[in-house]
Amino acid sequence: MRVKFWGVRGSIPCPGPQTTEYGGNTACIELRFDEIDRLIIIDAGSGIRELGNFIMANDLPKGPIDIDLFLSHTHWDHIMGFPFFVPLYLPTTTVRVHGPVTHEADTLEKIVGGQMTYRYFPVRDAELAANLQYFHLKEGEFDLGDGIKLTTKYLNHPILCLGYRFEYKGKSFCTAYDTEPYTNIFCSDPEDPSYDEAMAVEGELVVAEQNKVLQDFVTGADFLIFDTQYTQEEYEGSKVGWGHSPMEFAVQLAARSQVKKMALFHHEPMRTDKQLDALTAKHCSPGNDGGTEIFFAKEGMEIIL
Ligand SMILES: [Zn+2]
Ligand SMILES: [Zn+2]
Repeated sequence: MRVKFWGVRGSIPCPGPQTTEYGGNTACIELRFDEIDRLIIIDAGSGIRELGNFIMANDLPKGPIDIDLFLSHTHWDHIMGFPFFVPLYLPTTTVRVHGPVTHEADTLEKIVGGQMTYRYFPVRDAELAANLQYFHLKEGEFDLGDGIKLTTKYLNHPILCLGYRFEYKGKSFCTAYDTEPYTNIFCSDPEDPSYDEAMAVEGELVVAEQNKVLQDFVTGADFLIFDTQYTQEEYEGSKVGWGHSPMEFAVQLAARSQVKKMALFHHEPMRTDKQLDALTAKHCSPGNDGGTEIFFAKEGMEIIL
């Protein structure tokens, strides 16, 4: 497996002189299986535009383009690049789009393609020439053929959001974003008038169980990409419930889960290259990570498993 980052930001693209090193595009990851000629893309953030150009130059000359596109969820930063993905405009292209939908009344096709109405965009999705197929995805285990196995796991985000775990020839690659740690929503302060001991205890049990399920999902991964939009201080300050994790949580989780390599991902758009370098010195230095190799994802970075 070969994994390449085409977009590493969360929320909104942030090009400019302060983000040239880590990159300013939103989530898009290319996953290649060279020997079986399979191409998987995870998320269609703004980074998919450049990936599309690359595919046109490098894959198209070899034959028709065939892609499985897995969307973690349908928040805008994960689908905004879709209309700018040039292979969609070729009749010879096949794209199978997989992803979760929160409200069954709105299909994945309507949510993703709905960006392409004249109100927002000059081309309607009905005009896309490619053979586009949509598949609603739930939590479970799936055989993707050619020896590729996929496990999906619901994450902790304001809408349905899936983490993906791909296994191929004994190697595992896992994504877990956008997500935040599960926390007890019931009052845990006995002095508080709303305190209910039974509820507080039950809440703690559920939280422990859910966090363990997430840990099991990433355990032993050769490569994990995890949401680290915030620092612990930012998270506790005002971001609890926003659906993103603090870096400290990710680092501890990886150490507990025997993850071999972890990319910190979905960078806060305000974060400059300089700040990410400083956070690298804090979180990625050898010795404080329980043996996991940890780094902040950069646009263009490639990991071979
Ligand atoms: Zn996001
Ligand atoms: Zn999101």
